[in-house]
Amino acid sequence: MRTTVITSSRSRALANGLTYEAPDTLKIGMPVSVPLRNTLIEGIILSVEDAKADEEFDIKEIKSVLHEKPLLSEPQLRTLRWMAEYYCCTIRSAMSVWLPPPPWSKLLPKIAVTYALTNPTMSVTEVRGKKQREIVDHLLPRESASAESMKLDTGASTATLRALLKAGVIREIKRQETFSDARKPVLKAPHLTPEQREASDAIAGDKRPSLLFGITGSGKTEVYADLITQTIESGKRAMLLVPEILLTEYSIQRFEQLLDREHIAVLHSRLTASERAMQWRRIHRGEVHLVIGSRSALFAPVPDLGLIILDEEHEWTYKNEQTPRYHARETAETLAKFSNAKLVLGTASPSLESWSRAKSGAYHLATLKNRYANNALPTVRIVDLKGVKFGSYYPFSPEMLEAIKLRLERKQQTVLFLNRRGLATALLCLECRRRVTSPLSQLPFTVHKESTGHSYLLDHTTGARAAVPAACPHCHSTNLLAVGAGTQKIETLLQRIFPRARILRGDSDTLESPEQMRTLLKKMQEKEADILLGTQSVVKGLDLPDVTLAGVLLADVGLSLPHFRAGERVFQLLTQLTGRSGRAQPGEVIIQTFRPDADEILLASKHEVEPYLDKEWKLRMYAGYPPAQPMVRFILKGKDAERMSRNLQLEIEALSAKSGEKLVIHRAPTLSLGAGWHVLVRGNWKGLQDFPAEQFDAIVDRDPIECI
Ligand code: ADP
Ligand code: ZN
Repeated sequence: MRTTVITSSRSRALANGLTYEAPDTLKIGMPVSVPLRNTLIEGIILSVEDAKADEEFDIKEIKSVLHEKPLLSEPQLRTLRWMAEYYCCTIRSAMSVWLPPPPWSKLLPKIAVTYALTNPTMSVTEVRGKKQREIVDHLLPRESASAESMKLDTGASTATLRALLKAGVIREIKRQETFSDARKPVLKAPHLTPEQREASDAIAGDKRPSLLFGITGSGKTEVYADLITQTIESGKRAMLLVPEILLTEYSIQRFEQLLDREHIAVLHSRLTASERAMQWRRIHRGEVHLVIGSRSALFAPVPDLGLIILDEEHEWTYKNEQTPRYHARETAETLAKFSNAKLVLGTASPSLESWSRAKSGAYHLATLKNRYANNALPTVRIVDLKGVKFGSYYPFSPEMLEAIKLRLERKQQTVLFLNRRGLATALLCLECRRRVTSPLSQLPFTVHKESTGHSYLLDHTTGARAAVPAACPHCHSTNLLAVGAGTQKIETLLQRIFPRARILRGDSDTLESPEQMRTLLKKMQEKEADILLGTQSVVKGLDLPDVTLAGVLLADVGLSLPHFRAGERVFQLLTQLTGRSGRAQPGEVIIQTFRPDADEILLASKHEVEPYLDKEWKLRMYAGYPPAQPMVRFILKGKDAERMSRNLQLEIEALSAKSGEKLVIHRAPTLSLGAGWHVLVRGNWKGLQDFPAEQFDAIVDRDPIECI
């Protein structure tokens, strides 16, 4: 039979695989050895094709099979091929997220070495040292364990193991690694409330993807735990994706109560290459029943996948901003479909994408309307910044300062939010509270300063420029203000106002590893700090018992981004904030804004999620933005980007004129990529897959999230 094999060669010409002849006994996904030029090279069978009668060149044969067990399953390979097609990338780029880099033979089963106690009835007190005891403790209830699992579960190192071997306390057992799922984990099923039970049963009973729309604190995690339990009980395996592994300490602890750590794999982008390969092999062997991880965990080689959960499905981190530029939600939907697995999307503020699919019936909708144990919601205060006399304390209003001071006096804690995406400055009218928007994109203009000091307005979606108006185009007031971040110095300012307050800062600059996040939260927990200052990544800090004040310094910074998703993002952040309870003590949220009547702010403060989504959906329909209209972005970088982007735009315009497809095409310099240009195309473009983007050195970004 004819097969397409993707080889480990890095040649550009082979990025979509090569044709080989193979015996009919071979299956897709098998690792093979194939001849290429004058050598043998590793490959993986991607697909089986019908032989074409008119093929002239002679086709070489697969030399040998490296292992009978496919490295990737059929549903995984089908999803991989879908990714390459949908996201307009090569098979090799798509493959790069599914497998560690070659040589792939290192992923094949080996002789497994495990360790056992020489005397299974020995006592822990017979060995010295904490680490040695931990190992003996670990082995006492077990027949044997691998070095990998002992290192994961205890503080032991290779040196500890060697010392115990030398002393004869433990012995080595060698055997061929097997693929078995014989050891099914013992599960401690959660006790659901009647509302949670109803949601979980409805989800389990529906084949469509389910959107689990549950207010914060309603216990979505418990519903996940229940669904995972059912999946594993039925002999299948589950995957839980989370937006940011830094924030998942709580989830991981929760799931370690559900099933034993040795059946769980936690994957994130900061694993080293060897840790990653080790986890890959554990999962592939079938030892793992639950994979928890960030978006790339979706590509873990889980056999018999029965359930995929995306927690906080609305989060932007589910989009990969490098080739392959996949979105984990869409990719999970495809993988679930091919695997016959259930997909569950959980959130307190659904993305417009999922919401519209739930409304159309493409997704099943399950809701949780009540908070567990009727925990109280914090009170929300909106501070109108117009007319506030800041003095030298901008952007702190006297109300905000008073509230912080009160917390310091009461020895309670405060969390303050900045919006780091302060790269855009919008022009706001303080009279009618509207932003000066571009008539072309309906999005706010961004204020730019030329090196001469002269200012102008730029529309980052369409590239349109305009002069800075002297008066508001709506109400003719001259009371215009450029609202930007100006937040860099907040920490210094805060320290000056409250010299004795202990301030912690947590943002993506200071938080690089789960370890640092843990340290930060621990400092808060142990009351070594009074104020935590940070970006969105510290929202979880609000779960701390002594935090009774959460403040948003400038909600407008997010709202004024020249981005059609800007409002949605602010709404999501505020919903998350105002939904967190001061568990032990009543909490308060203060939102400072120049636009207290903006829907995002008003509706989030009242927890009115559905009205917001329905209103935002109408806006997207009206303006022709996703998900009402599909969108694709071409990114161009380098010296020639401007010229190439112009050529690319002309080419698409010519194509659409010929095909009669109605496409809205805009070109603009990018704001977020440094020196770059992008071309944004909206509309149903059938010819996208055949468009030769590489001729323009352009990267294709389908369903873009970042588009400024
Ligand atoms: P969500 O993810 O929906 O915001 P969580 O799953 O974090 O909510 O639950 C909020 C809190 O309520 C957690 O502390 C959780 O332990 C508790 N909780 C929710 N449901 C239950 C339940 N059925 N039994 C015990 N505790 C629960
Ligand atoms: Zn005005």
